[in-house]
Amino acid sequence: MPASASARAPRFAQYDLIVIGSGAGGGTLAHALAGTSARILILERGEQVPVESENWDPEAVWKHLRYRTTEEWLDGQGERFRPYTHYNVGGNTKFWGSVLYRLRREDFGELAHLDGVSPAWPISYETLEPYYERAERLYQVHGASGDDPTEGSRAPYPHPPIPHAANMASLVVRLKGLGLHPSPLPLGLVDPGQAGGCVLCNTCNSFPCRLGKKSDAEVCAVRPAAAHENVELVTGALARRLLTDATGRRVTSVEVEQDGQRYTVSAPLVVVSCGAVNSAALLLRSANDAHPDGLANSSGLVGRRYMAHHATMMQGFHPLHVNPDVFQKTVAINDFYFAGPDTPYPLGQIQSQGRTHGVMAQTVAPWIPLWAYNAWVARGVDWLVMSEDLPNPDNRVTVERDGRIRLTCRPNNTQAHEELVRRFTKVLHTLGFWKVMAYSHRTRNTTHQCGTLVFGTDPRMSVLDTFCRTHDIDNLFVVDASFFPSSAAVNPGLTIVAQALRVADHIRAEHWR
Ligand SMILES: Cc1cc2nc3c(=O)[nH]c(=O)nc-3n(C[C@H](O)[C@H](O)[C@H](O)COP(=O)(O)OP(=O)(O)OC[C@H]3O[C@@H](n4cnc5c(N)ncnc54)[C@H](O)[C@@H]3O)c2cc1C
Ligand code: SF4
Repeated sequence: MPASASARAPRFAQYDLIVIGSGAGGGTLAHALAGTSARILILERGEQVPVESENWDPEAVWKHLRYRTTEEWLDGQGERFRPYTHYNVGGNTKFWGSVLYRLRREDFGELAHLDGVSPAWPISYETLEPYYERAERLYQVHGASGDDPTEGSRAPYPHPPIPHAANMASLVVRLKGLGLHPSPLPLGLVDPGQAGGCVLCNTCNSFPCRLGKKSDAEVCAVRPAAAHENVELVTGALARRLLTDATGRRVTSVEVEQDGQRYTVSAPLVVVSCGAVNSAALLLRSANDAHPDGLANSSGLVGRRYMAHHATMMQGFHPLHVNPDVFQKTVAINDFYFAGPDTPYPLGQIQSQGRTHGVMAQTVAPWIPLWAYNAWVARGVDWLVMSEDLPNPDNRVTVERDGRIRLTCRPNNTQAHEELVRRFTKVLHTLGFWKVMAYSHRTRNTTHQCGTLVFGTDPRMSVLDTFCRTHDIDNLFVVDASFFPSSAAVNPGLTIVAQALRVADHIRAEHWR
């Protein structure tokens, strides 16, 4: 992004729209409204991720956590931890693996799980479908339909799938031989394999792209939006509180902290897009006389129903077989998405994963020398196994008296996840891997955080309406992962983007006629 496209202070005190946060939700919404006559201010607490050699250095990213926030949150027991989240232009999308899935059609309905019910969404797949199509075009998604047993009919992907590398191609054949239905993983990459495009390297998931060829929110949305006259991006600007009028029905201004100074900016419309945890925290920190329990919290649900997927990293290891693949993240296995072979309830999704680097593996058991890890991971094939967690009002974000975030989370639906891990371990052994490793960050994995400000039609049972406007405050929207009523078991990013596009259309039609 040219330096002139982002600034250290807003030019005006008054805008038509303020967007707080420049990630998947906020960045996309700003892009969809760029080029209108509205004056738009994006407030982003972080800075641009610098383009530097460390972008692709596993030691910098995994050992020194160079790009992660240094902020500490508390868990349910009051123990401090450093969350796996990033504050920068583009938000967490700068680090995502760019697996850009639509939720399955059935995910929008009620689904019975082993541990309870995954609730229905207040909108259908068909409502979001045109926005999924736009989202896939905007984020340049590569994929192919036909092989995935969970995917119904749909418009073709805008770009063809990424071809499997040699080792993965042979695994796909053998997976099919076991009666499974591996399908191409939908990936957002800019011109993969073409001159000047993505080079399909082995430092994508969890690393920022040094070439700017990952379809992240900065590349696809914020940068092009900020090139418009009507969009201003201010970085290093932390939204501390939202202030309302005395009735509590309107946000009047945003209190910003920047470089140790505080100031306020105003707009008739405010969109909060800080990510599911921080958006809930911002509303809670903004409590005032009209909203004593936090803004827009008449339902008591602000911060509740936090979800983040059960995720286990798995690796099949064969001592005599060095894995030659560089980019192996091209395969999904959805055979157990709605039911296991011996169970009627959903288990989840399996994806091949970017190559593990020795340094990454060493973070799990630091006493083992790096050379041993390097030898190990060179002979491994990496996978991510992911299951749905269910919304529970007691799994929640709260803020302490000093403003610090507390994340209280007791996992549920773990048996289904364990069963999926067991099932896939068996598959990997059948494929000839001698040893199968599995590791999970459990409830401290905040990468797929969602659900803290659920959307719905009943103000007593939801915080947002179906266009992500708060029920309680007329000019306040929340456009990020907060609105999810259920987490499904596919990556959330494309759904956040699609809903952001839908909300942008709504704002344009309803508020700027
Ligand atoms: C390593 C990793 C891999 C992932 N891989 C995938 C993947 O392959 N596919 C997928 O779909 N998803 C993936 N995800 C998840 C995905 O990145 C998130 O779901 C998505 O970015 C969430 O979008 P969001 O708009 O809710 O929040 P974010 O994208 O996190 O954006 C929130 C923004 O708000 C800013 N902000 C926060 N608080 C304030 C404040 N008070 N004032 C001003 N600004 C503020 C933050 O700095 C940030 O820029 C991954 C995440 C990680 C970390
Ligand atoms: S070059 Fe491609 S594979 Fe490598 S980080 Fe960039 S987008 Fe990801």
